[in-house]
Amino acid sequence: MRSFLEEISDYILSNYSDLRSLNIIVPNRRTGLFIKKNISELTDQTIWLPQITPVQDIFYSNSTLNSAEEVLLIYKLYRIFIKHTGSNESFDDFYYWGEIILSDFDDIDKYLVDAEKLFSTVADIKEIYKIFDGYEEESIEIIKKFWFNVNQAQISSHKESFLDLWKSMYNIYSQFKNELKQDNIAYQGMIYRDVAENLNNDNFTHENYVIVGFNALNKCEKQLFNHLKSQFNTIFFLDADNYYLKDKYQEAGRFIRENIRKYPSIDNIGISDYIKDDQKNIEVIMTPSTVSQTKLIPEIISKWEGEHDYNPEKTAIVLGDENLLIPLMYSIPDSVSTYNISMGYSVKNSMTAAFISHLINLQQNKRIKKDECNFYYKNVISILEHSFLKILEPESENIKEHISSNKMIYASRSEFQVSELLKTIFQAAGDTNELASYVPDVLYAVLQRIIGIDDLIMEVEVLNKIIERLNALKDCIIYDNITFESDKVYNKLLNSILRNLSVAFEGEPLKGLQVLGFLETRSLDFDRVIMLSLNEGVFPKTSVAESLIPYNLRKFHELPSIEFQDSIFAYYFYRLLQRSKDVKIIYSNQAGDGASEPSRFISQIKYELNKEIKFSTKAYKIEIDSKKVVLGKKNQKIISKIEEHLKNGISPKAINQYIDCKLSYYLEYIEKIKEPDKLEEEGDAILLGRLFHEIMYELYQPYLNKPLEEEDFNKFTNEKINIALNTAIENVLETQSKEQIEAFKNKIIVEIALKYIKLQLDFDKHNTPLTINSLEASEKIEIPISKYNINASIKGIIDRVDIKDKTIRVLDYKTGKTEISFKDVDSLFSEDRKTGAKIVTQILLYALIYQNKSNSFVCPGIMNINNLGKDYDYRLSYNRKRLDNINSEIINDLNENLIEMFEEMLYTTQHFTQTENEKKCQYCPYKVICNR
Ligand code: SF4
Repeated sequence: MRSFLEEISDYILSNYSDLRSLNIIVPNRRTGLFIKKNISELTDQTIWLPQITPVQDIFYSNSTLNSAEEVLLIYKLYRIFIKHTGSNESFDDFYYWGEIILSDFDDIDKYLVDAEKLFSTVADIKEIYKIFDGYEEESIEIIKKFWFNVNQAQISSHKESFLDLWKSMYNIYSQFKNELKQDNIAYQGMIYRDVAENLNNDNFTHENYVIVGFNALNKCEKQLFNHLKSQFNTIFFLDADNYYLKDKYQEAGRFIRENIRKYPSIDNIGISDYIKDDQKNIEVIMTPSTVSQTKLIPEIISKWEGEHDYNPEKTAIVLGDENLLIPLMYSIPDSVSTYNISMGYSVKNSMTAAFISHLINLQQNKRIKKDECNFYYKNVISILEHSFLKILEPESENIKEHISSNKMIYASRSEFQVSELLKTIFQAAGDTNELASYVPDVLYAVLQRIIGIDDLIMEVEVLNKIIERLNALKDCIIYDNITFESDKVYNKLLNSILRNLSVAFEGEPLKGLQVLGFLETRSLDFDRVIMLSLNEGVFPKTSVAESLIPYNLRKFHELPSIEFQDSIFAYYFYRLLQRSKDVKIIYSNQAGDGASEPSRFISQIKYELNKEIKFSTKAYKIEIDSKKVVLGKKNQKIISKIEEHLKNGISPKAINQYIDCKLSYYLEYIEKIKEPDKLEEEGDAILLGRLFHEIMYELYQPYLNKPLEEEDFNKFTNEKINIALNTAIENVLETQSKEQIEAFKNKIIVEIALKYIKLQLDFDKHNTPLTINSLEASEKIEIPISKYNINASIKGIIDRVDIKDKTIRVLDYKTGKTEISFKDVDSLFSEDRKTGAKIVTQILLYALIYQNKSNSFVCPGIMNINNLGKDYDYRLSYNRKRLDNINSEIINDLNENLIEMFEEMLYTTQHFTQTENEKKCQYCPYKVICNR
C-alpha cells in the first residue's frame, strides 16, 4: 500500500515540469524530508528538488520580529502585570501565572481574536449587543449566559478577583505587545499574527504552492492558505479516511470536514478507504503495569523480524506517554541495530534535571567554616554517583571512597581540586546572582564533555535547551536587577522553569525503527505500528492546558478547548490505523496507576469498526519481569567496569556482598546504584561504633609501637579519657555547632561509649604486655589473575594491629552479636553460608592482607566489646579449634577462592544473578528493584 506522501510525491513529479517553481508547505520538517526522499526515489533523472517549507518557517521568515526566550517574556509580562494590577507578587510566585497568561496571549493571536472584545467586562447584558454587534445570535447566547452568571450570582471573592484581573487584562496585553515590538521581539502567536495581518505578495516568490497534510488549523494558518489560494497557483492535499470523514459525528474528522470545504484535496488524493480493510490486523493488548507495556516490545519486534516483508523504517513505536521513553529504550531488543527517536521529551524526567537538583542541594547545605567551603557528604555522593560524573570523572570513585572510608560528614572544597569539572562543581555559589551563573556554568562544563558520548546523546539536547533558558534567566536577574528574598527562591523559579520545559528530539527519520510521539506521526505512514499507553486520561488526555480564559469565552471566540483537543487526539489515532497492516494497541490496567481504563478509542473500534479485533492480556508476573530487568547482564562495558573495580581495590565488604548476592554487588559496585540508607546519618549503633573507634584511636595513638605494660594503663585516667572523648565527639560531629556538641555530650550513647572504652582498656590491661602497631590503617594486597592478565587488589581499613606474646594480631572491634566460627574457607565463599560468616570472611581477608605486608603469620581476632571479660578469647574458631594464625592452608584456600571468584566476575557469560536465599533480601535496599 502506498503511503500518503508517496502518492503526493508521485502527483508532484507527474504534474510539475519545473520543480523549482514549487514551494511545498508542510506541517513539520519530517514530512518534508519524506517528500524529498520519495521524489528522489521516484525518478532516475537528475532533477532540481522543490522548495519544502514547514509552515512555521513561513511565518518566522516573513516577520521582522524575533522569537524571544520564554523567561525574558515572562519577566517583561511580570513587570507590566504588577504595574496594572498593583499586585505585590514576587517574580517566582508570578512565574506559574505568567506561563498561563503568555499561553493565552499566544492563542489569542494565533486565532486572531479581538483582544479588546475578549477582555471586555459586561455589567449590563444590553452592552453585549453593543460590543458584539454583527455576531450571530447563537454565539451571542453563549456570551450572554457567561456574563449573566458572573453578574447575577452572588459575587464571591474568587469572582471578584477574576473581574479585577479581567478588567486589567486588555491593558496588560496591549502594553506587553507594544513593549515587545519596541524591542523587536515576540512570542510565537505574535509573530503569526504579525504576518497573517500583513500578508503581501512580495513575501512569496514561488509560482506554485502545494499544501500537504494539515488537520487542525489556527486562523493565521487559514489566512495564509486563503491568501496563497487566491493569489497563486495553489493546491491542497488532505490526509484522511472516509471512515471518519463521512461520519459527521466522528470527532477524528472534525477539522478535515471543515478543511475539505475550503481546501479540497486535488483529485481526492490522500482520501482513503483503508481503515476497514479486512487484511489489517489489529490487536489490543492489556498489560498489568505501565512499565510492563514496554516489555512486550522484544516479543512483538522479534516476531515481525521473522516476517519476509519486515522493514524497520516502516515500523513505528508510538508513545502516548513520554514517561515510557526511558523504559522503552531499555526494552528495544539487541537485534534492532538502529532506532530513531522523534518526540517531545519533558526535561523534568531527564538526568540533567536530577543533576540540577543535586547542585542546588549541594549549595543549599554547604557550610563555610574558617573561610573554607565544606559540602555535605550526602550531596557530594549524589553528585559523584550521578551518571554524568560516573562517565566523565574518573576521580569520583576515589573521592567517594575517601569520604566513605574516613566517615566524613563534610568534604572541604580542597578535596575536589583534581579536575576542572570537579572544581567547577564544587565551588561556593552564595547569593542568587552567583547561583544564576553557577548552575548554567556547571551545565555548560558538563555539556562540553558529553558531546559525542553515545549513552548521553539525549542529554546533549536537554542540556542545550536548559542552558539557553537559564542564561536568559541569569540575564534577567543580573541586568534587570531582580532581587530575591532568599536563595531558595532561585530554586523555586528553576523548578517552575523546568516543570513545563520540553525538548523536541528530532532524530534521523529515514533510517531504522522509528520511536515517536503521536504528534510526530503527522503525515507519515507505517506498515507496522505499536501504540503504547492507550489509556483514557493518557491518550486521549482528559485535561487541557490551563487558561485564564473561561470555557464559554473560549468557545465564543473559537479558541481551542477540550473538544478541540479530543478531535486532534482522535485524528492522530485513526490516521495511524489508516495505511498500516499490523497494529498493536497496548494499555495498562494497573490499578492505582492513575489511568487504568482503556482509551475511549479502543472502545470505539471495538463497537463501531465492525471488524475483527483481537483482544489479549499479557499477565506477566512482575517478579519474573523484574528479574529480567535487574539481571546484571555482562557485556564488554560491564566487564571493563568490573576490571576497574578489581584493579582499584575491592573491599572485603564488596567481596562479602558478591558472595551473598551477585546482583546486589552488581547494583552497588558496578551500576553504582546507591543504597538509599548506606551513608545514612548516624543511627545510634553506627554513631556508637564511630565514637568507640575514635576514642580508642585518640587514647592509643600516642603509644603506637611502644610496649604497653599494665601500669601504663593507669595513665588512662578519667581526665584523659574525657579529653579523648571530647576530641572524638568533635571529630564525629565535626560541623555541628558548639551548642549541639554540648547537648550531645549528655546523651546516653556517650555513657555507653565510655563504658565500652573502660571494658576494652581493662581487657587490654589484663593482657599486657602488648604493642600496638597500627590503628585504623588502610592496607591492601594484590592478587594476580593470570587468566585475565590483571592484578586484583583487595583493600581495607584494619581497626587495630598489635603484637601480643610475639603474635601479630589483626583485630576488629565489634559491638553487636558476632559469629566467630567457620568450618573451612570454601564454606565461607559459598552462597548458602550462614549470615555471620561475613564477619569471619572479613577478618580473614584483613589477616591475609596484613600477612602479605608483614610476611609473617598473623592471628585474626575479633574484640567483641559486649563479651569482653577476663576469659574472653578473641580468636576465631576454625573447625572447632581456636585459630592462632592464618596458616598456609588457609592462605592458599583464601587465594584460590578469591581467584576463582574474580575469574567468575570477569567471565562474560556468567551474569549477575539474584540470590536464591530470599532471607538475604529482607534488609536489602534493592528489594524494590527485585520485587523480593
Ligand atoms: S533483594 Fe535479594 S536478590 Fe535482590 S539484590 Fe537484594 S539480596 Fe539480591
